[in-house]
Amino acid sequence: MQGKITLEDHFATKTTLGDSHIFGAHVWSELGPRLLDFQDQRLRFMDAAGIEIMIASLNAPAIQAIPDIKRATEVTREANDVLAREIAKRPDRFVGVAALAMQDPDNAAAELERCVKDLGFRGALVNGFSQVGSPDTTVYYDLPQYRTFWRVVERLDVPFYLHPRNPLPGSVRGYEGHDWLLGPNWAFHAETAVHALRLIGSGLFDELPRLQIILGHLGEALPFLLPRIDRYVSRQMKAPRTFAETLRRNFYFTTSGAFPHSALQCTIEAIGIERLMFAVDRKPQRTAVMAYLSRQRGRAGTEARSLALDGAAP
Ligand code: ZN
Repeated sequence: MQGKITLEDHFATKTTLGDSHIFGAHVWSELGPRLLDFQDQRLRFMDAAGIEIMIASLNAPAIQAIPDIKRATEVTREANDVLAREIAKRPDRFVGVAALAMQDPDNAAAELERCVKDLGFRGALVNGFSQVGSPDTTVYYDLPQYRTFWRVVERLDVPFYLHPRNPLPGSVRGYEGHDWLLGPNWAFHAETAVHALRLIGSGLFDELPRLQIILGHLGEALPFLLPRIDRYVSRQMKAPRTFAETLRRNFYFTTSGAFPHSALQCTIEAIGIERLMFAVDRKPQRTAVMAYLSRQRGRAGTEARSLALDGAAP
């Protein structure tokens, strides 16, 4: 399966590299250098796995965990410029999506516009809620101060990848004493699914019907729970469409880091193959899912290609 496009592969700058330590000392000697590298090992991995184009994004939580607004803005600009320079060396192999300092919605909108119009990026990837002003804040993007930002995303006609991050220490009581629940074990998915549900429940997509959000990890478990969510939500709030309908109109999911065929099948049934895109979220190694997607012939691959090469999700 040659000519693949991957949609959730991260890099780090020297400033943000330390944020990836959470994946553990046992992988650090391999992971650290790999996050900084573009032109050497990364390209060799891509060649070995038949990946033609990597859509690269900054590591997590990076910008979103910098409460100082000015500092967050500086680190964002630096990271986006690093990415643009690396892409310029191999524009045939790399595509960029922007990091954004959501701590300042107006600045985030301006930076997205710069990244799309001046640097040629094809969207944004943001690591969940932002800490704004002080380290113990959690600011979600359904809040009214983000409506202008979302209008700019819709106008630019580029997708916004809502990528996971951990909740702040102590903010979820059920995690106390069980650090193993954090990260990709559980918390990444629960945190991101809640954020996505907040966006839908806020009426954002009724206001901006062309807005497109991407979730990784087969939709962060939402496909499995969707019928139950809709059944109970519909009794409590009046909305022009169900959450399932909104997902099928305003969301794309990727396969990043989630490989069981049963989960993939559930996701395809929930959102449709045309809204599922290929991503790995680590080194390319799971040939089973690649083979499965290749058998689906076309639509998922076509969508990913249009995102990478034409610059906008339809
Ligand atoms: Zn990721």
